[in-house]
Parts: sequence; C-alpha cells; structure tokens
Amino acid sequence: MNLGKVQYFEKIETNKQKDFLSAHNNCALCGQNLELRHVRVPETIEIKEEAYCPQCDIRARAKSYTVN
Ligand SMILES: [Zn+2]
Repeated sequence: MNLGKVQYFEKIETNKQKDFLSAHNNCALCGQNLELRHVRVPETIEIKEEAYCPQCDIRARAKSYTVN
C-alpha cells in the first residue's frame, strides 16, 4: 500500500494550487483581494487584464490576450 505516499502528493498538489490562487487573486504585498479590470484595447482585438490592489494603489500585473 502506498496510501501515505499518495496522500503526501495530494497535499503538495493542494498547496501548489493554493499558492497559485493566492498569487493570482491577492496582492503580494498586503494580501488584499485584487481588483481585476478588463480593458478592451481600441482598434485591436486585444483584451487587457489588469490586477489592481486598492490598498497599495499598485497595479500587480497586466496581461493582454487576443479575442478570436
Ligand atoms: Zn496590496
């Protein structure tokens, strides 16, 4: 039986997912929930996504992606 091993990996996986979620939804500085803004870039088919922390008044990240 490798139950212990399986549980171990499941735990790691869960922690990774939590890290991923928290890195994408919370400010790295204060932990506040980030506000997501989606801005259509004029004259293009791009949508710009910005994550903004109202507490720190910083833009945490920005990315654009193309709408097909
Ligand atoms: Zn913040």
